[in-house]
Amino acid sequence: MAETIKYLLDESRIPKAWYNIMADLPSPPPPVLHPGTMKPVGPDDLAPLFPLSLIMQEVTAEREVEIPEPVREIYKLWRPSPLYRARRLERALDTPARIYYKYEGVSPAGSHKPNTAVAQAYYNREAGIKRITTETGAGQWGSALAFAGTLFGIDVQVFMVRVSYDQKPYRRALMETYGARCVPSPSNETQSGRAILARNEKHPGSLGIAISEAVEVAASRDDTKYALGSVLNHVLLHQTVIGQEAMAQLELANDYPDVIIGCTGGGSNFAGIVFPFLGAQLRGGRKVRIVAIEPAACPSLTRGKYAYDFGDTAHLTPHAKMYTLGSTFTPPGFHAGGLRYHGMAPLVSHIKELGLIEARAYHQIKCFEAGVEFARAEGILPAPEANHAVRAAIDEALKCKEEGVSRAILFNLCGHGHFDMQAYIDYFAGKLSDQDYDEAELAMALSGLPSVKAA
Ligand SMILES: *Cc1c(COP(=O)(O)O)cnc(C)c1O
Repeated sequence: MAETIKYLLDESRIPKAWYNIMADLPSPPPPVLHPGTMKPVGPDDLAPLFPLSLIMQEVTAEREVEIPEPVREIYKLWRPSPLYRARRLERALDTPARIYYKYEGVSPAGSHKPNTAVAQAYYNREAGIKRITTETGAGQWGSALAFAGTLFGIDVQVFMVRVSYDQKPYRRALMETYGARCVPSPSNETQSGRAILARNEKHPGSLGIAISEAVEVAASRDDTKYALGSVLNHVLLHQTVIGQEAMAQLELANDYPDVIIGCTGGGSNFAGIVFPFLGAQLRGGRKVRIVAIEPAACPSLTRGKYAYDFGDTAHLTPHAKMYTLGSTFTPPGFHAGGLRYHGMAPLVSHIKELGLIEARAYHQIKCFEAGVEFARAEGILPAPEANHAVRAAIDEALKCKEEGVSRAILFNLCGHGHFDMQAYIDYFAGKLSDQDYDEAELAMALSGLPSVKAA
């Protein structure tokens, strides 16, 4: 068999609609609640933050949501993304498994995030919005939205978690190249930021704090809206181009996955590759094993509580029922910055609760080991986040070898690691450690969950 096997589709095969799993679920996820009234939030509650079109996508039960032509036109810059058969990795592992990976690192920002950034910028422009605020941790989301903003003529202001702002000047430079303004968070530009700085001038920041700042600015101005890069239903919806393309590409390969693997921070790249396959299963199609991989230092799906919680630290956002570590939980330092969120997407949490997916938590060193092994076999250097999925795919392939069976493994290689070389430098220097979160801190963060009576 050939060594290099790549399944490509031409532009005409970019999906014409996003796939909405809500249409096929046996039960809908619990409603998102207004923190004041404890009633389900309505479009009016969210209108200060999002354009109506995105609010409607948040709640629609339509199976297909048409992708606007201007969005598909921009998708053509990098979509359909390639699906590879990892033949050289299979050979290195000496496994009978068939390993496939969908590569989202070919996007201009280097990850899956532009799939939703472009869509969100488009709907904001259609609504006459001039400026979008957002938060970013490692900088992947910020650079994706900065890219999308410049294509649609929208100003983008990014609150970047302070430690990352200091440690990742290249992501910041990329955002600025696309024309975005990048501010370290906590900042002096918002009340939430000032409140934190008053207590600790040198606060390292967190995603939860940066979200509070971005939301605060958007809520206070009519021409400004907010955008989130993961967690919300409409974000997961936009990512389903990944799984839909992978399905068509596996058809070319005349194969179907036995197991699908994705890493989970807020859950969007995972949902993107998984939901189209899971939907097919729910409609009576073939059953697939689905595994979500998260960092052991921020293990919302495996160690969190399925409960209503806030999405941010200053508690400006509605209550969503999700697997959560508590909105005040600060994970210890580890290198997969995109996986540091305290909660998990309500939709991904719901399908976990329904028993439709499995979840596992991995420490970082063995993930980097897997990433290096992957790079040496396949040439592509994965993002630290993606290394979690690579690790799991390799483990599954080794299990196939042990059992002497050939299974088809599909994983999402959600981004490249070219901006994360410091993490690799630290790994090679033996400076990485496997940190566990602090049990006492987790208990404290969970004790601060809002009390929500069963509806
Ligand atoms: C942001 C990011 C993640 C985590 O976000 P999800 O919503 O869980 O996908 C993972 N990998 C990469 C490369 C990212 O940029």
